Amino acid sequence: MSALPEDDDRARLRESIDRLDERIGVLVARRDAVAAALIRRKVTAPYDPRREHEIAGDQEAFWLPLLRRVRTAEGARMPRVACKPGAFESGFTVVAGPCSVDDDLEATVGALSLLGVRWLRAGAWKPRTFPWSFQGEGLAALERLRACADRFGMRVVSEVVSETDAAAACELVDVAQVGARNAQNYALLKCLAALGRPVLLKRGPASTVEEWLGAAEYLDGRVPVTLCERGIRGFDPCLRNTLDLAGAVLARRLGGFQTIVDPSHATGVAGLVAPLVLAARAAGLDGAMVEVHARPERSRSDGDQALRLAELESLLGAMAAASPPEDRETVARQATSLG
Ligand code: PEP
Ligand code: MN
Repeated sequence: MSALPEDDDRARLRESIDRLDERIGVLVARRDAVAAALIRRKVTAPYDPRREHEIAGDQEAFWLPLLRRVRTAEGARMPRVACKPGAFESGFTVVAGPCSVDDDLEATVGALSLLGVRWLRAGAWKPRTFPWSFQGEGLAALERLRACADRFGMRVVSEVVSETDAAAACELVDVAQVGARNAQNYALLKCLAALGRPVLLKRGPASTVEEWLGAAEYLDGRVPVTLCERGIRGFDPCLRNTLDLAGAVLARRLGGFQTIVDPSHATGVAGLVAPLVLAARAAGLDGAMVEVHARPERSRSDGDQALRLAELESLLGAMAAASPPEDRETVARQATSLG
């Protein structure tokens, strides 16, 4: 059947819209890149909202809907993206340890050290859903964690839950963790930005990639930042959360931050941790945080999701056996991505 004249006309109009969209997209991407370059020039300085706005504010307000589309498409196209220096060395870092500092800490850490784990995690202040659940033993627990890590030559990642304890906690940790529940606690982020410790910033269970990267902006340029995808709220109660691997890869590409995953909190099930660690590594991410306990049944929190030491050992064995992914994204951010 031959096309009607008005169909030709419509097709021509659609084509010119497509061409215009493409040109607008290129210009917006360029504008975004220039603004990003400006943001990166931010020096270590006390937080000043007016200055932040001068640097980046106007672009967000006016261009946001279009930028979202352009950024996602750009991020998804980037084959190798570079990251800025983060909290961890380059390569794939495994951070392991119990959910909370408890009676079995020393036994767990001694065994982790024998397995070659160099980054230790454990919570001293535990943000819990119910006030009657174990809350952690605070600063005393963190001091014990530090002493234990020092005994085995390990480095410490531990959560800082409030501004009140932040300065004391930062004296004892190598990396300050901002937990999922505090992922948008801007007062805490500003406080940590001023304290100088590298930060592991978890993603909030309902944070968009944009909100997660927005939170990271409070720290970027002031302290090294590593992002941690720990599962977002899904609809299926058989899993604690849903590990958003695509969101983690996209955040890494768009923000240029080292990005790791936490499959323990993402799934809530010990048996699902290993395959997701391997998946994160294959996806070119920078590491994984896993909960491990010498005797999970005695753990004061999150025992169901804790790997046994033998399970961690076989995961580390599987990682050693698998050759590193070819397209690891560890090169320095290319200037070309700034347009
Ligand atoms: C944790 O890592 O100990 C923790 C509480 O995780 P999240 O903040 O991701 O729930
Ligand atoms: Mn936990």
